[in-house]
Amino acid sequence: MQTSKKVIDLFGSSVFNESVMRERLPKETFKALKRTLTTGEPLTEGVAQVVAAAMKDWAMEKGATHFTHWFQPMTGITAEKHDAFITPTGDGKVLMEFSGKELIKGEPDASSFPSGGLRATFEARGYTAWDPTSFAFVKDGTLYIPTAFCSYSGEVLDKKTPLLRSMEAVNRQALRILKLFGSDAQRVTTTVGPEQEYFLVDKALFDKRKDLIFTGRTLFGAKPPKGQELEDHYFGNIKERVSAYMQELDEELWKLGVYDKTKHNEVAPAQHELAPIFSTTNIATDHNQLTMEMMKKVAKRHGLECLLHEKPFAGVNGSGKHNNWSISTDKGENLLDPGKSPESNTRFLLFLAAVIAAVDEYGDLMRVAVATAGNDHRLGANEAPPAIVSMFVGDRLEEILDAIEHGHKAGKTVKSVLATGVNSLPVLAKDNTDRNRTSPFAFTGNKFEFRMPGSSQSIAGINIVLNTIVAEELRKFADRLEQADDVKAETDVLIHDTIRDHKRIIFNGNNYSQEWVYEAEKRGLPNLRSTVDALPAFIAPKNVKLFETHGVFSRTELASRYEILVEDYSKIINIEALTMLEMAKREILPACLAYTGKVFEGLKEKKTSGLPVKTEREEALACKLTELTDCLIDKIDRLDAAVIDAKSEDDCLETAKYYKNIVFEAMGQLRAVADELETMVGKDYWPFPTYSDLLFSV
Ligand code: ADP
Ligand code: MG
Repeated sequence: MQTSKKVIDLFGSSVFNESVMRERLPKETFKALKRTLTTGEPLTEGVAQVVAAAMKDWAMEKGATHFTHWFQPMTGITAEKHDAFITPTGDGKVLMEFSGKELIKGEPDASSFPSGGLRATFEARGYTAWDPTSFAFVKDGTLYIPTAFCSYSGEVLDKKTPLLRSMEAVNRQALRILKLFGSDAQRVTTTVGPEQEYFLVDKALFDKRKDLIFTGRTLFGAKPPKGQELEDHYFGNIKERVSAYMQELDEELWKLGVYDKTKHNEVAPAQHELAPIFSTTNIATDHNQLTMEMMKKVAKRHGLECLLHEKPFAGVNGSGKHNNWSISTDKGENLLDPGKSPESNTRFLLFLAAVIAAVDEYGDLMRVAVATAGNDHRLGANEAPPAIVSMFVGDRLEEILDAIEHGHKAGKTVKSVLATGVNSLPVLAKDNTDRNRTSPFAFTGNKFEFRMPGSSQSIAGINIVLNTIVAEELRKFADRLEQADDVKAETDVLIHDTIRDHKRIIFNGNNYSQEWVYEAEKRGLPNLRSTVDALPAFIAPKNVKLFETHGVFSRTELASRYEILVEDYSKIINIEALTMLEMAKREILPACLAYTGKVFEGLKEKKTSGLPVKTEREEALACKLTELTDCLIDKIDRLDAAVIDAKSEDDCLETAKYYKNIVFEAMGQLRAVADELETMVGKDYWPFPTYSDLLFSV
C-alpha cells in the first residue's frame, strides 16, 4: 500500500530538478542556470562544468555508472547510447569523471537514423546538445541527459529542436502582443497535458501472435460475441491485475518526476487511459515518451503487454492521445482563460481569434501532424474525430463571437447552477458550455483539446504545428497593431475581422455525422481522408513559407521530413502485408486444411459405415470449408503478387499510393476470408488466440 508520505518522498527522487540544483550548486551557478531556464539566455562552459560535476556526484549516489545523451530522432521514439563515467588514471585504475563538455555536447554516430536524404551514411556525423529546460534523470543505472540532435551541417535530425524553435516563435510573437497590452511578462510558453490511451493484454497470448509482435495490431480476428456495446468498461471498476500494474506504473513515473495523475478504464474492453498534469510543451513531450516506455516495461513485469497502437483490434475503439494545449506567461496567467466575463476580456478574445485563424488557415498542417498508417484506422471511423479539421468553442463563446461579428453587444455571462432536484446534494456551479466529444479541436474551458493524435505518436510534431501556426497569426496581429494609432480600437476591428473571415472553421455540432461531411465541403474545408492524401500538404508552398518565417524548419528540413513520413507509410504497410502472408500461409492455411481434412474423414467413415445416416449438411459444411480455403489461397496469392509488384517508384508518394490502393486493399480481402474461416474452424485447430481470448484475458 502506497502512503501519501511515501509519494511525496518518491516524487522526482530520480530527477536532477530545481530543488536538487538549488541544494547542490553554488549560488552563482544556480542563478546562471535559472536565467537560462527562464529567459532562454545561453549557457557558458564554466557553468556547464560546475553543473556536470554536481550532476555526476548526485547520479553516482543514485547508483549511476553511465551517462547518456537522450534524444528523439525522427523515428518517433527515443534514442540513447551509454558511456561510463570512467577515465583511466595511468596506473591501471580509473576515476569517475564527467565534464562540462560531455554534458553540453555529444557526438553519436548518426548514420543509421532516418534523415530523409539530409545526410549520407558516409557523412555520419551528428551532434547532440544538452537541453537544460528539461531535467536530467537517473534510470537503470544511467544518468539521462535530455538533448537536441542535429547534423554536422546544422540541419535538425530530431523532434525536439523544432519543438523548441516553435516554442521560441510563440514566445517572440506573444510577447509583442502582451507588450501592447501593457504586460510585463518576460516569457510565454505553451503548455500541454497529453491523455494517453492504451490496451493491456496477457503476455503469453500476445507472444502467440506474430501480428501483435511485428506490427502492434491484429491483422486477423473475427468479431467476438461481446465487444464494447454494453458500455460496461468505460470508467468501470479496475481489475486487480490491472490495478497492480497501474500502481507500479505510477511509482515509476513519479520517481521520474512525471505528473501522472488520472487513470481509468476506457471504452473498449482491455482499454485504459493515463493522464498527467500539464507542463511546458517540451517537458510534456519528454515525459510522454518516458510514459510510453514505462507503460511497456512495467507491463512485462506483470505478465502483460501494453499495446500503444492506434487500432490494435478491429470493431472496438482504437486509442488516441488527446493533446490539451494552452499558452501561459511566466506570471502564471493562462492566456486562453476567458475569466468571468469573456465578452469584455479583449486579450482573451484576441488570443482566441489567433487560434481560430490559425486552425482555419493551417488545418491541413494539423491533419498532416496526425497522419500515420496506424491513425488512418481511427480518423473518420465513428470513434475518433473525422479527418476534417474544425473547432468547437461551445454555445456561450459562439454567442459572443456572433455578437462581435454583427456589431451588437453580447449579453453578460451569468454563472448558472446545476439543478439536481435533491436537496441534500451540494449546489454545483455549471460550466459555460457542455462538452463536445466529437470535435477534433475543442475549447474546454481554458485550453484546446486536440483529439486527432494517435496513441503511439510522439506529441512533438503535433505541438510544433500548433505552436507555429498560432505564432504566425500572432505575428500578423502584432504587425498590424504595432502600426495602429489607437491600439484598443484597432484590436476590436482585428477581432471582428478575424471572426468574419474565419468563422467557417467553427462547428459545434456532431462531427461524426454524414451531414457534417457535406456541410464542411460546402464551407470549403479540406477532407484529407488518409495519410497519403494528407502528407503532401506538409510541403505546400504556404506551409514551407510558414515554417521558414518562424525559423522552425528550413525548406530542406521539411523536404526530408516529408520523405521520411511518406516512406514510413509504405514501410509499415509492407511489414503488415508480409506478416499477414506469413501467418496466412504457415498458420491459418494449415489449420484450415487440417480441420477440413478432419471433416472429410468423418464424412467418409459415415458414408462407408453402411448405416442409414444423413450427411447432406455435413457435406455442405465440407464444401463450404473447401470453398473458403480455396478462396483463402487465392487471396494469399493476390497479396503475394501485390507485394512483389510493389517497386520503389522514384516518387515516394507514388509508392505510398500503391501501398494504400493495391497492397492495403488486398490485405483487407485476405483478412475477410480468414476471419470467416475462424468462425468455422474448430477451436483446437485455430493457430493463435482469438479476439475473445485477447480482449477478455486480463
Ligand atoms: P478529460 O478526459 O475530461 O478531457 P482529463 O482530466 O483526463 O480530462 O485531462 C485533461 C488534461 O488537460 C490534463 O492532462 C490536464 O492537466 C490538462 N490541462 C489542464 N489545463 C491545461 C492547460 N492550461 N494547458 C494544457 N493542458 C492543460
Ligand atoms: Mg480528454
